[in-house]
Order: sequence, then C-alpha cells, then structure tokens
Amino acid sequence: MKRNSPFRAPRRAFNSPLDGDGREAAVNNVENARDVAEETLDPGDWSDVQALSHRIVDDSIAYLRDIGRRPVWQEMPPEVKTFFEASLPRSPAPLAEVYREVAENVMPYPMGNIHPRFWSWYMGAGNFTGALADFLAAVQGSNLGGGNHAAALLDGQVVNWCKQMIGFPASASGTLVSGGSMSNLIALTVARNVKAGVDVREEGVASIDKPLRFYGSDQAHSCHRKALEALGLGNRALRRIPTDRDLRIDIPALKKAIAEDRAGGFHPACVIATAGTVNTGAIDDLEALARLAAEEDLWLHVDGCIGALMAIAPKNGHRVACIEHADSIALDPHKWLHAPFEVGCVLIRDASAHRDTFAVTPEYLESTPRGLASAAWLHEYGLQTTRGFRALKVWMALKEHGVEKFGRLIDQNIAQAAFLSRLIRNEPLLELVAPTSINIVCFRFRPKGVDGESLKALNIEIMLRLQELGTAALSDTTVHGEHCLRVAINNHRTRREDLRLLVDEAVRLGRHISGA
Ligand SMILES: *Cc1c(COP(=O)(O)O)cnc(C)c1O
Repeated sequence: MKRNSPFRAPRRAFNSPLDGDGREAAVNNVENARDVAEETLDPGDWSDVQALSHRIVDDSIAYLRDIGRRPVWQEMPPEVKTFFEASLPRSPAPLAEVYREVAENVMPYPMGNIHPRFWSWYMGAGNFTGALADFLAAVQGSNLGGGNHAAALLDGQVVNWCKQMIGFPASASGTLVSGGSMSNLIALTVARNVKAGVDVREEGVASIDKPLRFYGSDQAHSCHRKALEALGLGNRALRRIPTDRDLRIDIPALKKAIAEDRAGGFHPACVIATAGTVNTGAIDDLEALARLAAEEDLWLHVDGCIGALMAIAPKNGHRVACIEHADSIALDPHKWLHAPFEVGCVLIRDASAHRDTFAVTPEYLESTPRGLASAAWLHEYGLQTTRGFRALKVWMALKEHGVEKFGRLIDQNIAQAAFLSRLIRNEPLLELVAPTSINIVCFRFRPKGVDGESLKALNIEIMLRLQELGTAALSDTTVHGEHCLRVAINNHRTRREDLRLLVDEAVRLGRHISGA
C-alpha cells in the first residue's frame, strides 16, 4: 500500500527546475552525463526497505513488551565476542542480512538498564516514544548547530521547559549536551571564565593571577575532576570537603577551607553543590550553600544530574528547594526523564556570560537577515559545532505524558527505595550501610562473625551471581570506608515485587555462599 507522506508543508512556493522535464533538460546539458554512474545511499527499491522497517518496529515493540521476562543481563558466548572482530566490510550485504546480525548478536546482550530489575550505577530506563523520536530526528537529519528551522526552535523550547521544571528564570540560557558530565563541564567553564579576573579565552589559564579553587564534597561525581583537568586548572584545584553522617557537604569545613585558601594566596572561585550524590543520593544543603556563595562571592554550581528534576515531583520537590538560586545547574534528562541516551542539559543564569564563554563567529557561520541562517546559532553555547536533534525525544515524551506524570514517577522511585530499606531493616541478615535519602539504597549481607575483606568478597560474590543469573543488576561502592551493595532505582518499570525478589535472592545467595 502506497500512502502519501503526512510530512507536508502547508504550501510549496517553488517548483524546482529539476522536477519533471526541467530535470531532463538540466541533465542533458551536461556532457557525457550518461557515462557517469552516480550513486546514492538511498535504497534502489523503497518497498523492500519499507517491509523490513515495519518488521524492525514490530520486533522492537515485542522486545520492550517482554523485557521483564528476559534476563537483566547475560554474558556473551564466545562466538558473539568473536563476531565483533570481523574486519571492515568491503562489499555490500542485503540490509535484511545486516539486521539479522544485529538481532542475533546485539539485541540479546544489552547492558540491561531498560529492565525492571536494573539498579546499577545510575541510569535511566528509556522509553519507546523517545526511541521513535530518535528515529524521526535521524530521518529529518537536521543539524542543531543552529539555523532557522523547526528543530532549532524545538531545541530551544526543551531548554525553556527545563528552566520551568527547575524554577530557573526565563532569562537564563542553556543548552542540550550529551549528558551530565558534559553539562557540568560547560557550567564549570563559564564559572572559570567569569571568576578568572583575566581574559582566559585570549590569555589562557597561565595568565590567572591567583590560582582558582573550586570546592565540592568528597561525594562529588568524578566528572568534576575530569572537568577541572580539562580546564587546565588541575585536579588539585578541586578541594574535596568532608561530608557529615548524612553524606552532605560539611559547611563549617567548607568555610574553613575557603578561609585557608584566601590566606594561602588562592582565589576561591566556585562551589559545586551536589543535589543527589551518586553514592547515596545525599543532597547538599542548597540554601546554606547559596548563602555562603553570596557571602564569599563564589559561583554556585549545582550538579543536579540525579536530583534537580525532583523539582517536578509533588512529594519530594521540597528536597531541592533553593536550587533556583544557583548560577548554573547540570541536569540529566536521560536519567529521571528516561530519555534514551544521550541527553543532558546545562542551565546558566547569566546568559551573556554563557555566550561569552563559547561564541566565536567564523566567516563561514555569519548570520543573514533572512533564510536558513537568520537565527541565533545554538553552537555558541557549548563546544560542539554540529549538534544532534536530541531535543525531540524529550519533547515528544513530555507532550505525551505531561510533566506531572514524570514527577509522580520520581516520587514512585523514592517510595520504592523507602520500601526496599524497610525490607532490609526487617531482614536480620541484611543491613543498611548509609541512610536512604532518595532513591539509592546502600546495604550488605552480613552474617555473624564475617567482617572486613571477607565481608566485601562475600557481597561482591552475591552481586556477581545476581548479575550472572540474570536476576538483578546492582553495583557496589564504598561509603565512608564501608563496602556495600548499591541499588539505584531510577526506573519506571520497577515494581515492589521486583524489590521483594531482590531481597529474597540476596539472602538466599548470601546464605548459600557463606553457609550462614
Ligand atoms: C550521572 C551523573 C553525572 C554524569 O552524568 P552523565 O550523564 O553520566 O555524563 C554527574 N554527576 C552526577 C551526580 C551523576 O549522577
């Protein structure tokens, strides 16, 4: 069945001379045109591709529909591992054959983060609408470096929606990037340039008078270290401040470090607050940090990759009150908005400081009064020139479900973590290792008389068996010196039964391995 495309503009203003007879004439004007075999990547027969595409969509829907019945993760057999050692393909293969290879070697061996019982590290669970959006974005193929076209307006709209979700002023700027690491890097770059006291863009960091100091807690994400290294300030420019029992930055210790640094000839420049640490979900005291940053004339950056979006959650939004006082915020729609990877967002209160950090207008990217280049360039707010149309997957899912549902799903994950913590407290062989603040639970299996390295080895063994059995994916970490298993529930597919199963299986495996 052949249907006309619904993707029509309201009117077509112009008939191309390359349509119909005009095309024939144009081609005949070129000498020897017939001798040149011109190629394209488009299929020779669109109807074959159409049938295969429908099959891929059907297979994808079945894959997601049945996801809970599959193992969370499974080790790849040797033949799958060697499959990826094949050398560069030189001759063509039918697309159906290429797809068969993907269906057999790739799709059965995922990382697993879309599964209801995936709780490792910190990821989102994706959503099908987002996958359709990524497909449409690729079909349209627009470059979000900027320009006067619909995708660019939509990109800007998603940034504006992020401001609205957080309660950031409309006058702030922002950009969509690959994820939280990149959004933190963008924000810290602006902070460095604003606080440097010299023109870092022209003169470089070597011209900075007093070495800049950035502050974060000992629970801050590792991407900040990478950012400071990349910014030429060095790892030591990031002072790790100890945390209190709740794993929140110790404010008196921070004040002391700032005073020490001033006395020592350093220039305290920026405090990085974490709203939801990756180890335990702890939320630094944003109100106190906003006050301190104002008093000390520091840039306040909030790493909200985990927690900033709690601002939309009716029951837990209060936990990130005052986040809107930040100078910059990093948030991660591919975490609690479950957008398929990748999409992060950075917001900067002072839009001109943001643009002044990155904008360069080479002669080949000047704007024009009308036409395709008659809009602000989006690449002036970050490091990329070409940018993908990652906004569409956020936009379509937000339109489909509405922001309130995403807020409820955040509350749901936090309630599930509280439920899991209760199950753990009621189980004599398990113990919580850190307070559960939001959606991250740190616990361990601890039979009597097992301690230290053997306790750690036992818990790692439980974690690996849970993975290898395909039951659940957890990760592990060390919090204030105590090793533990870590469950991060950032997953709209998780149900309470999944958590009950986790507790039962962890206890069963722990007993089996330790003989307890
Ligand atoms: C996930 C995370 C990051 C890094 O974000 P990516 O999207 O993985 O690059 C940074 N900070 C915190 C607190 C995070 O949880």
